[in-house]
Amino acid sequence: MFDCVIVGGGPAGLSASIYVRRSNLNVAIIEGNMPGGQMANTAVVENYPGYESIAGADLAMKMYMHAINLGVEYIAEYATDIKKEEYFTITLANGETVTARTVIIATGMKHRKLHVPGEEEFTGKGVSWCAICDGNLYRGKDVAVVGGGNSAVEESIYLAGIVNKVYLIHRRDEFRCDKLVLERLKRLSNVELILNDEVKELVGGDSLEKIILKSGKELIVSGLFEYIGFLPSSEVISTLNIVSSDGFIEVDENCKTKIEGLYAVGDIVRKNVRQIVTAVSDGAIAALHAAKCCR
Ligand code: NAP
Repeated sequence: MFDCVIVGGGPAGLSASIYVRRSNLNVAIIEGNMPGGQMANTAVVENYPGYESIAGADLAMKMYMHAINLGVEYIAEYATDIKKEEYFTITLANGETVTARTVIIATGMKHRKLHVPGEEEFTGKGVSWCAICDGNLYRGKDVAVVGGGNSAVEESIYLAGIVNKVYLIHRRDEFRCDKLVLERLKRLSNVELILNDEVKELVGGDSLEKIILKSGKELIVSGLFEYIGFLPSSEVISTLNIVSSDGFIEVDENCKTKIEGLYAVGDIVRKNVRQIVTAVSDGAIAALHAAKCCR
């Protein structure tokens, strides 16, 4: 039995694991994907204190190695269910179970989709949610990005360094992203802003060839990167009755849920600011409280 099991290996989960382990307790992270969560798929992180600019994948690896070198166990599998009786039992996708005295939920969020005709057909054949993974496939070609937040603007800047041209489609004429990053985008000669417009349909043959916008305008592109926000990944805790109707978890100032011994941290928590730095902060708070619970 583990003193603490953390479900999710993004910055919140990795930070929590480091703090639990440093309390000399045995701890495992359950994560079916690569460590680092969304951070690992971010081209460049420029607002994590101590690093003026670092590749998201590098920051993810540093946090992961920090945890592993301390003796955190990494279970590379998805968790499918969590039950609480005297202790917690976490079921894995391979059918195995893991028991724990405390559990920290750090499952984060998953990409929101446009749900337009052609999106499903061209997923992996032009439609992508990860510029850092797929950007190279479009070297020298024209692509579009949709969204008006930090992700859309930052990933457009990253793509502009690889592809021939980036069309950034945003449904309003005001962006939600940091002002500095928007200024940097606007200085790029191979980025064209398409404002007050939305994607209507994706068209192509074997792969994406054209985007039709609601205005009727057509963009000839080989790729579309969707950065229109995220939805909470709360499936694994659906049976615990702690998830609100919109999928987020309410916690107190110690990141405690209403179930004794169960905590939630990072983007899955109902809050206003979702940054790497706030995720790692949640991780520390929950871990130190969970460690007290185990004594
Ligand atoms: P976001 O801030 O939620 O922005 C989503 C964008 O997509 C918005 O501009 C929204 O338009 C647009 N959108 C949503 N649904 C749409 C639809 N169906 N069709 C067209 N457009 C749609 O998402 P994000 O940029 O991924 O950021 C998520 C969180 O992570 C934020 O808290 C962000 O600050 C944080 N983040 C921070 C950094 C950083 O600090 N460097 C980097 C990445 C992400 P409207 O504006 O009209 O609503």
